[in-house]
Parts: sequence; C-alpha cells; structure tokens
Amino acid sequence: MTKAYIGLGSNLDDPQSQLKKAIIAMEMVPSTSVVKTSSFYRSKPVGPQDQPDYVNAVVELDTELSASVVLDYVQAIENEQGRERKIKWGARTLDLDILLFGDEIINNNRLQIPHVEMHNRGFVLLPLNEIFPDCMIPGVGAVSSLLQEDNAEDLVKLI
Ligand code: ATP
Ligand code: CA
Ligand code: CA
Repeated sequence: MTKAYIGLGSNLDDPQSQLKKAIIAMEMVPSTSVVKTSSFYRSKPVGPQDQPDYVNAVVELDTELSASVVLDYVQAIENEQGRERKIKWGARTLDLDILLFGDEIINNNRLQIPHVEMHNRGFVLLPLNEIFPDCMIPGVGAVSSLLQEDNAEDLVKLI
C-alpha cells in the first residue's frame, strides 16, 4: 500500500462541483481509497492571467496501484470531466496532478514525481500542509518551511 497525494484544480464549469465529482471518481478507482481531503481554496491563475480564479485542494490516497496506473486513472477522470488541452496553463474543468507517491522519485517521459513545481505553489503547499503537516518533499524539504517562504497570502479558504 502506498500513500499518494493528488493536487486538484479547476477554474471552469462550477469548480467546486468539479472537485467534489473528481473526489467521488477517485474513490471508485480499484484498490484505492481517498483517506483525507483538504479544504478548498480559491487561488489566482498560474500563467495566462485572462482566465478565472481557480479552486484547489489536495487529497491523500491509499493505493495498491503503481504511479503510472494512478496517472492513467486520473487522466481518465480529467477527460471524463471535459478536460481539454489547448493553451499551456490555460483554463480547465479539472487538473489532477500526482504530487507525491510514497517516497518514490520518478523521472520518465510521462511522469515526474515529486511534481516539479509543487514546492513553488502556495495553492499546493497550503492544502497539503493542512492534511500532512510533517510532509517532506524528497530532495526539496519540509512543506511547512516552504510554505512560510512561499507567498500563499492570496489564497482564500472556501470550504
Ligand atoms: P503543471 O504540470 O505545471 O501543473 P499542467 O498540470 O497544466 O501543468 P498538464 O497539461 O495537465 O499540465 O499535463 C501535462 C503532462 O504532464 C501530462 O500529460 C503528464 O504525462 C505529465 N506529468 C508529469 N508528471 C506528472 C505528475 N506528477 N502528475 C500528473 N501529470 C504529470
Ligand atoms: Ca497542474
Ligand atoms: Ca496536470
């Protein structure tokens, strides 16, 4: 069994509902359960600014699957919820990023774990710190100390 952390984001078509639907879909993934869910936070977009604010959260999974199979499932959930890939960092109904997968370090064409930008993003660090305050990002450091240095002040807790 592996503990995995998934970052969720949406800024189209009722983002809070998109996240709730995605969490239910992740509960349906075989040999996998959602064991913790952070609060939902509103955040400013990364990249193009001419798009709506995001809603972000992080969930903890227990899974018997491999990271690459978890990626297959989360990409299928994104597609099921109408994810389109047009503009890099453009608006989307649903983004599911694998942040951490146990203590694994993965670097291949499809998958980099830990997620390469997670330590720079308040909208990842704040909800992750909420459900896993002792979290260490392999090769980077403690989420709690990154969060202090990071600018998470524009995040608004929703639910
Ligand atoms: P960012 O990765 O900066 O958050 P993004 O989420 O908008 O940007 P996507 O278009 O969703 O990027 O994903 C592009 C590709 O990233 C995916 O096709 C996937 O193969 C790859 N990828 C690499 N590492 C990961 C990871 N840890 N979790 C999810 N996808 C990943
Ligand atoms: Ca992302
Ligand atoms: Ca993604």
